[in-house]
Amino acid sequence: MRILFIPLFILFYLSINVIAEPIKLTKDEKTFIASHPIIKVGMMPDFTPFTYYIKNTPVGFEHDLLNIISKRTGLIFERKIDNWTKVYSAFKDKNIDMVTSISYKKYREPFTIFTSAYYEIPIMIFVRDDFGEYKGIKSLKGKKVGVLKDVFYVKELEDMKTMDLVYYDNYTDLLNDLVFGKIDALIQNLTNINYLIKKYLYSNVKLASELILPNTKKEDLRFGVQPEKPLLASILEKALDSLSKKEKEDLVTKWIGSIKQYKGGHIELNKEQKAYLNTKVIKYCINPDGMPFEGLNEKGEHTGMSSDYYTLFEKMLSAKFELVKTNNWNESITFIKQKKCDMLALGMETPERKRNLNFTSSYLEVPLVVATRVDVPFINQILDLENEKIGIIKGDAFVKILRQKYPSLNLIEVTDIKEGLDKVKDGELFGYIDTLASIGYEFQQKYFGELKIAGKISENLKLSIAIVKEDKTLLTILQKTVNKITNEMHREIFSKWVPIKYQKGIDYDLVWKISIGAILFIILVVYWNRKIIQTNKLLQEAKKDIEVKNKELEKLAITDKLTNLYNRRKLDELLQNELNRSERFKHTFAVTILDIDYFKKVNDTFGHQTGDKVLIEISNILKTHIRTTDFVGRFGGEEFVIICPESQEDGVFNLMESIRLDISNYDFKNIGNITVSFGIALSKENDTVESILKRADDALYEAKNFGRNRVTVKD
Ligand code: GH3
Ligand code: MG
Ligand code: MG
Repeated sequence: MRILFIPLFILFYLSINVIAEPIKLTKDEKTFIASHPIIKVGMMPDFTPFTYYIKNTPVGFEHDLLNIISKRTGLIFERKIDNWTKVYSAFKDKNIDMVTSISYKKYREPFTIFTSAYYEIPIMIFVRDDFGEYKGIKSLKGKKVGVLKDVFYVKELEDMKTMDLVYYDNYTDLLNDLVFGKIDALIQNLTNINYLIKKYLYSNVKLASELILPNTKKEDLRFGVQPEKPLLASILEKALDSLSKKEKEDLVTKWIGSIKQYKGGHIELNKEQKAYLNTKVIKYCINPDGMPFEGLNEKGEHTGMSSDYYTLFEKMLSAKFELVKTNNWNESITFIKQKKCDMLALGMETPERKRNLNFTSSYLEVPLVVATRVDVPFINQILDLENEKIGIIKGDAFVKILRQKYPSLNLIEVTDIKEGLDKVKDGELFGYIDTLASIGYEFQQKYFGELKIAGKISENLKLSIAIVKEDKTLLTILQKTVNKITNEMHREIFSKWVPIKYQKGIDYDLVWKISIGAILFIILVVYWNRKIIQTNKLLQEAKKDIEVKNKELEKLAITDKLTNLYNRRKLDELLQNELNRSERFKHTFAVTILDIDYFKKVNDTFGHQTGDKVLIEISNILKTHIRTTDFVGRFGGEEFVIICPESQEDGVFNLMESIRLDISNYDFKNIGNITVSFGIALSKENDTVESILKRADDALYEAKNFGRNRVTVKD
């Protein structure tokens, strides 16, 4: 599959000229201009960045384009700016001579002469910076992908049935959701999104690729001219034709801009190389367990430094490489011998390997260092390690080199870096040799405070691409690519994967020790920062816990355990509040005391527990009857209090009557009917909690005396 780069100028349909051509007009065309110098052109007010307003001035790509044409032809364009519907019908009604931003549609032909397209808006896939590697539309599988409702390519995307499409009404929301992580990708035309990215200075969004589907075309922008004015159309066509490549590029850069795109140059390939890339699937193997250089992530995808290099290579070559997965490095070596893969992404050149493989020049070079326990002295040179057991990865290419160069070293082979470092930690090995990158990477995860980087070995590890010997074409292609990698690209990839910096070229013992100290200090700071963040998190959680507990306590302090209604304490407080309010606002409120009739009998006949249940049931009836502004509590024993703020006698009386009736009609399980007596008091000036309760109690007493199961009011 081919990967696309986005040199925006290719979006132009027009042929590539370097210098503006003079326009050769026919006699008729010249006459037309002389007799019709003013052309009415319909344009939209909000079609950014082609035609829109900045502070009441119409601006945009199309305005600039018309100005160029004006200069070149002498035509004067009188802009009629209105929304598309109005512009379009004015054009059909022949009130204007031409329109801009019109796309070719067959049904428009009877009333339109179309010029060629002066711009074709590509449809683009945008992702966030953290999306990871984008490997074509298959990377969107299972992802949330935002699109505009009813946009013309939606059906085709839906039919693919691979992505989880999220629909939007406008492209501001669409982009916003991508920026803030609600969706993983969006598909929309380049200019709209690019304009917004520039406007809001969003920095975490990037262009993944152009959307190329069998039935999806770019949106073409053309001039549309009245059929009666073929001369105008031909003049415009000639004017468009006369634009130089630079003029076109300037227009694009000014109004559409270039988004983050591939920075390096394209690789120039000859015919044979092009044909090779077009026809052959290039398979590569990696070390699946070689982070940070390379490895497989949880999803089984290629990750690490070499993965970034391969993404870069693919872009530079517009080619696609295919990973052949293996279980370990040895299997990768076997695979390349058996030609199951064409190349190894990262390999060290050794004389032995050179028999079967070709190597590009090295594109990754990293220092080799020794890790030891923290309590041993720093190492100034490799020979300080003589007579000590030093671990090194089994089968690694530099084992042999070190053995040849330093025969006095006691090198012990280990299966992987973890085993090596663990053995150093346990004292089984004195030190372990590996790259600064690998050891730094492991130190981030483990071994902090126990191991240190004790020194550097004079050799650097140099890594290249290893290619099967027969495939000379691939070698030449990849060598060209490696040559083209800039220092900046190297730096970007290296610093992404290797956060520990090593200062090249400084060999002085002291400086080295200071560097190590600084590295350890940085690690320490990072470590403490993490600790502090963690502690803060715990504190935050504890605080939340305490808040919840406090709320629970508060609730406990004001509720009656049995009925869950307010308790006496809270009722007293509420009453005091109401008294204060009524004094201030001169409102009347009512207090009602309820007492269950002959409740003693219930207890005596059915037991205390049944009595408790009755109390709960009555509480529930009370809760359902009162208004949201009323308060109900248990006053004690089988007595309840209801406070009705801002109420008059009639209203409260009716409310209590309805409660009384409902209770008296309620069938208490196993008991039958139970009644309640009510005493209401309305607030008066100079009332106290005691005085108003006393009047309510007096009213209740009256209700009991008059035969119970009734409501009595005391003014
Ligand atoms: P009346 O009010 O109609 O004059 O008759 P009564 O039987 O209800 O008389 P009184 O108010 O004197 O009796 C209150 C009884 O309520 C006393 C006690 O047995 C019962 N009681 C008080 N608190 C509780 C409680 O928490 N649970 C239960 N089950 N009974 C309670
Ligand atoms: Mg009582
Ligand atoms: Mg009672």
